[in-house]
Amino acid sequence: MLESISKSTTKTAKKLLLLTIIGANLFIFALIIERLNFHSLFEDAADMEVQAQKLADSIQLADVMLTTSARLAAATGDTRWIERYTSAIPLMDEALENAAVLASVKESRNFQSVAKLANDNLVTIETRVIELVKKGNLIDASSLLNSEEYNRDKQVLGKATDNFIGSILQATHDNLDSLRNWTMIGYGLLIIVGAVGSYLLWKVLTFTLYKSEQSIEESENKIRDLAMKDSLTGLSNRYHFEEVSTTMIKNAERDESKLALLMLDLDRFKPVNDTYGHEMGDTVLRQVSKRLKQVLRTNDVSARFGGDEFVVMLNVDSDKCDVVEIAQRIISEVRKPITSDGKTVQIDASIGAAFLPDDAANFSELMRKADIALYSAKNAGRGMAKLFSGEMDDEVAHQQFVKENIRNSIKSGEFIPYFQPIFDIASNKIHSLELLARWQHPKHGLLTPDQFLGQVIEFDLINELTLSLLKYGCQRVAELPLSISISLNIAARQINDVWLVERILAILRETNFPADRLIIEITESALITDFDVARKILKSWQKRGIRVAIDDFGTGYSSLTYLSKLPFDELKIDRSFIEDINSSEDNKKIISTIITLSNSLGIKTVAEGVETIQQYESLTELGCDMVQGYLLSRPVAYDGLAKTLGKIPAEVGQSTGT
Ligand code: C2E
Ligand code: CA
Ligand code: CA
Repeated sequence: MLESISKSTTKTAKKLLLLTIIGANLFIFALIIERLNFHSLFEDAADMEVQAQKLADSIQLADVMLTTSARLAAATGDTRWIERYTSAIPLMDEALENAAVLASVKESRNFQSVAKLANDNLVTIETRVIELVKKGNLIDASSLLNSEEYNRDKQVLGKATDNFIGSILQATHDNLDSLRNWTMIGYGLLIIVGAVGSYLLWKVLTFTLYKSEQSIEESENKIRDLAMKDSLTGLSNRYHFEEVSTTMIKNAERDESKLALLMLDLDRFKPVNDTYGHEMGDTVLRQVSKRLKQVLRTNDVSARFGGDEFVVMLNVDSDKCDVVEIAQRIISEVRKPITSDGKTVQIDASIGAAFLPDDAANFSELMRKADIALYSAKNAGRGMAKLFSGEMDDEVAHQQFVKENIRNSIKSGEFIPYFQPIFDIASNKIHSLELLARWQHPKHGLLTPDQFLGQVIEFDLINELTLSLLKYGCQRVAELPLSISISLNIAARQINDVWLVERILAILRETNFPADRLIIEITESALITDFDVARKILKSWQKRGIRVAIDDFGTGYSSLTYLSKLPFDELKIDRSFIEDINSSEDNKKIISTIITLSNSLGIKTVAEGVETIQQYESLTELGCDMVQGYLLSRPVAYDGLAKTLGKIPAEVGQSTGT
């Protein structure tokens, strides 16, 4: 993005530079033309006009001098003629000669042909005058100079000279005028070119500026979008939603209007993701967003908070019924089948809603209340919408209280493991002690897993419980004189928790309990989401010597899938099969098959819930490797363990003595 901005900036700079150079060149060029051409021509023409005027004046002066001198010469004697020729005639000749240079060839020729005859006549008359003067006949000489003939010729010459000079004056004047016009046109053109150039320059400049501004704005928009939007669905993200909601809340307070916050959660979205893959999961999320937008009005705001959690802020015009209807519409829209890549899924949504100002006074409180309503909706079943109510709050407060209570009880050691031995038939030895959780409740006495495990899992405290039991178990079993293993129960979904694995290993180190004396029992009650990851984790445990057992085998839907996908060391046949081993041939066959299958895979078998000697014998007959059950021992507290171990049948007792 930054690269494209800098590219466009460089482009703009290049364009600007080029335009500046062209503009400057044009300007200099125009100046040179103007200097070299127009200005000098103009000056020359002006000079010419001045010169022509001067010549006209000189000719006039010379003419007056000539005529006056002639008359004076005729009146006073011959010496005047010399003066007249030396001063006036050269002046006249020079002026005419210079004038001829200024005039066009045609005019010069015209003038000469007219002037020559008159001039010749005048010279002839004057020659006669000179002769008369020489003879002393001054009166005749004067009258000859005043004669009609002399005056006519004088007039002809004068008129020709006047015309000649007049035309030269006119020509130089016209020349100057036209040059002046051309200069004006030139300047005009220059101004027009300059104006058009400037305009174009301005346009290009503003256009490139606009372009670069536009690309900066586009980049800014993209950045803003990234900061404000959820990239998968295009809905607002948490940050933006909170920002917009805060403004909406302020406006609602000012207008004394109502807002509703809807919190939406997809039901069983995780299995869709796990079964059909993440692409399908993404398609579902995008479709849900699209449908959500279709139901909402333009001034409502929707957002995805990550995962399958959506929120909506609504402006409520009338009463709560409105919101219920919108929530129902959203649920029924979301429920419509979604197809991608030939696969079709159907998904339900649960919605919890809370109102401002009725239920909450600010954003965080509104969120909390809507969340409580959502929790209640989820508990009520799939595809439900619930509005927040005060009782829900009490319920949540209660739950919170219970959760804290359990957490503290785990910390303070109220939860301890009971130990139940698992006996190895072939070696006659205690194979391991299974740690079974018990809660020594200060008020209610000893509680079994069925009384608390559900809540512990629901409150997400199962890891804390597991670790606390393991630590206790490792410390106590390490104190025993026997080198017996420990079997630890973990729920399948805990396997993918890398943090838990690290904590388990840390406890082994801390209590100095060898890893090869730990067996981890995995119940298949919860679905393993990623078999590849689970397999890697199990393998890494096995590398350290930890063994892995599949628990309650035969009760889950996917027992065989588990067996084929994960590397188990042991298999625990569920008590339900053992119960009927002697009364149901079918069950016996199933057990036999499980044992054969396990043997072929190199997996050891453990029979759970062995209560009778008959069951024990049948299992031995079928080739089961190990047994566990009330027949040998109930789960007991650590204090009773030594006694229990002592009570174990003779052959078991022998084996434990080693
Ligand atoms: P499980 O892992 O199958 O444990 C065996 C259960 O069968 C124990 O019940 C045990 O007391 C009971 N049992 C053992 N022998 C016999 C017998 O001969 N007859 C009968 N009727 N029952 C027998 P418990 O202790 O109530 O535990 C129930 C379940 O709770 C366990 O089943 C296990 O799935 C779960 N659990 C217990 N502790 C933990 C724990 O720390 N973590 C996890 N994730 N689950 C635990
Ligand atoms: Ca178990
Ligand atoms: Ca079991």
